[in-house]
Amino acid sequence: MFDKILIANRGEIALRVIRAAREMGIQTVAVHSTADADAMHVRMADESVCIGPPPGTDSYLSIPAIIAACEVTGAQAIHPGYGFLSENANFVQIVEDHDLTFIGPTAEHIRVMGDKITAKDTMKQLGVPCVPGSDGGVASLEEAKKLGEDIGYPVIIKATAGGGGRGMKVAQNAAGMEHAFMTARSEGKAAFGNDEVYIEKYLTTPRHIEIQVFGDGKGNAVHLGERDCSLQRRHQKVFEEAPGPCISEEERARIGKICADAVAKINYTGAGTIEFLYENGEFYFIEMNTRLQVEHPVTEAIFGVDLVQEQIRVAEGHPMSFTQDDLQINGHAIEVRINAEKLPEFSPRPGKITQFHAPGGLGVRMDSALYDGYSIPPYYDSLIGKLIVHGKDRQGALTRLNRALGELIVDGVDTTVPLFHALLQEEDILTGDYNIHWLEHWLETNLQG
Ligand code: ADP
Repeated sequence: MFDKILIANRGEIALRVIRAAREMGIQTVAVHSTADADAMHVRMADESVCIGPPPGTDSYLSIPAIIAACEVTGAQAIHPGYGFLSENANFVQIVEDHDLTFIGPTAEHIRVMGDKITAKDTMKQLGVPCVPGSDGGVASLEEAKKLGEDIGYPVIIKATAGGGGRGMKVAQNAAGMEHAFMTARSEGKAAFGNDEVYIEKYLTTPRHIEIQVFGDGKGNAVHLGERDCSLQRRHQKVFEEAPGPCISEEERARIGKICADAVAKINYTGAGTIEFLYENGEFYFIEMNTRLQVEHPVTEAIFGVDLVQEQIRVAEGHPMSFTQDDLQINGHAIEVRINAEKLPEFSPRPGKITQFHAPGGLGVRMDSALYDGYSIPPYYDSLIGKLIVHGKDRQGALTRLNRALGELIVDGVDTTVPLFHALLQEEDILTGDYNIHWLEHWLETNLQG
């Protein structure tokens, strides 16, 4: 059992982990930059350590500072949250070399899934359906053009090291290939230090469906159904729901079993997400995230589980607390991401919160690190809160979301809340009839200037 864990993160996810640990009787250590000295995660943890100046590279990404913070506080394990060091295999290796426990998968699993070509290859071998495309990397423009003809346009060129929607370019036809190929390569090089790219069929109207998996590292794994995260802007999710409005029980059981079997076979430890595009009843693997996702609460709501406590439990070497048969879906959940951003450009708006009131009541969860008078620092992600609602069915969840959004007060900065009020007026959102392009089209016609 751990007595004390350190949370190598900030904001709402740091609070999420602190809460889970406290219920398990585990002490918590917060780390923070000088810009976050007054942050909620620092106030809520049992102890805190300042690990550097404001920029993430000098604080939340500083591996020596985080390891030193464990040593001075006696923390035995590190929870990385999402983002920052959560998918950094080198960090995991260093944590283990210091006889500390990383609450998450092994360095090797992170490395394999962090390179998209290797990840796809591994998944293919494990029997997971993938998007048709090149076998591995594509080295030359000539080869890319030949593949474009073979696969059939449109195709998408992706940097193997890409992430966060960067390093991806669509070629609509042979004429567009040169530009797309060169741009994906140079973006991969500039953002991730790796210019290797691969090619996939570009699916025109898919939904983004992802499967939550969980393994104990000893060959046992389960799935916790899907989340539909098709509502995206610039490949960034803004609204997520579970179960997916278009996924049948049979489809869930089939793709869920494929995913659970795949991660069981590789002795995967902890929480993971296998992302798919879904079109015409077929699933196509795109990537695996080897961490807790921002949108994990919708899964927690419908299954009644605590994924963070489960992560801690298996990191301690215990078996999972549920079997596949225990995992039954109850109702429907929706999450909206509240960012400090000004519409319609979605430009970041850090600043001082003059008034904050979180909605409450049955089936409402607000995960946020805001408080009255808090100043949002300009150095980090603009996500300031997640509103999650749970209802007995999709209609119930939508009604509750509308009610909860009405109660929410975030004054002092611009936020994405008006977007959600507007979306709840849309027939397609009410009926669940949307795909990965829906939001971009809607924004173009409804939110210009
Ligand atoms: P990242 O690692 O940058 O998040 P992903 O591979 O997960 O990249 O893709 C992010 C998003 O890009 C997907 O949710 C989807 O909207 C779009 N996308 C990726 N691959 C394809 C494809 N083959 N066809 C159509 N859209 C795609």
